[in-house]
Amino acid sequence: MQKVVDGIYIGGLLALKGIEALDEVGITHVLSVLNTVKDSLLAGNQLVCIQPNFFSLFWKVKRKNLIIAAEDTVGFNLIDHFEQCNDYIQDVLDSNGRVLIHCFAGVSRSATVLAAYLMQRNSISSEKALSMIRSARPQIHPNEGFMQQLEIYEKCHYHPRPENPIYRQWKFRNDAFNPNFRPPILKSYADITATAGGGNELKCKKCRRLLAFESHIFTHKPKNDNTPEVPNVLKGSLLSSKCTHYFLEPLKWMQTELEKGKLGGRLDCPKCNSKVGYYGWQGMKCSCSEWVTPAITLQRAKVDEIERR
Ligand SMILES: [Zn+2]
Ligand SMILES: [Zn+2]
Repeated sequence: MQKVVDGIYIGGLLALKGIEALDEVGITHVLSVLNTVKDSLLAGNQLVCIQPNFFSLFWKVKRKNLIIAAEDTVGFNLIDHFEQCNDYIQDVLDSNGRVLIHCFAGVSRSATVLAAYLMQRNSISSEKALSMIRSARPQIHPNEGFMQQLEIYEKCHYHPRPENPIYRQWKFRNDAFNPNFRPPILKSYADITATAGGGNELKCKKCRRLLAFESHIFTHKPKNDNTPEVPNVLKGSLLSSKCTHYFLEPLKWMQTELEKGKLGGRLDCPKCNSKVGYYGWQGMKCSCSEWVTPAITLQRAKVDEIERR
């Protein structure tokens, strides 16, 4: 267990065993970020004997506790817990308490939650927050998915909300990697209204129906530099001149098609019914060789990109 800043300590599950050390430091609260069943069993089998009822024994020793049930996997959504954890930590500090933030090994989950708190509290980058923690506990190493969530958190200015396209698009993609993902469970479809957009617009080439705003488009980098350029590309286009497909988040006008339960199919313009794109939950390869998963696309040849002033 290490002190990171005044009142905040970080450690692994074993830190809970050292009751004397916790008392000595004056830990009043514990924020546990783990799967209590799986992780304490793992500790029992592979490390030393932590009784199955360790948690309940421990909590009787008059310390307050918040448990965030979390797995240390790349796809686990931790970002949606940041606000609750931040409030908890702040309440402890405001009441002159001291909090131990721990997971199983004190490497990934606890470090991520603490980094998010430090970022929001001090308006700093994920890099800065992690280096603060690392100077107290060098072995910390959030998994790749958590690293990305900290970056998203920073880009959302510490307010990840569905109204924010950066957060929304991250969530859509993250959910799609979940093994339980089924297209009909999509909860949010961005709606196109005159006020929802910003930046350039995509319109059906044939009937001019508005199909998407800039904020609905995922950017992707061309994978292959040798791909030939597409001719007659709008200057300042959102799409690289090597790419033939815009990749989008799910939009309201696609809902009926996307919820048919198919693995993929074509997308037609809601007004004139001409084909404007494709979708595929398992992803699709753009002309630039980059795979995008999941893929909801509009074909560059079927839409016009219009600069908004
Ligand atoms: Zn049309
Ligand atoms: Zn591409």
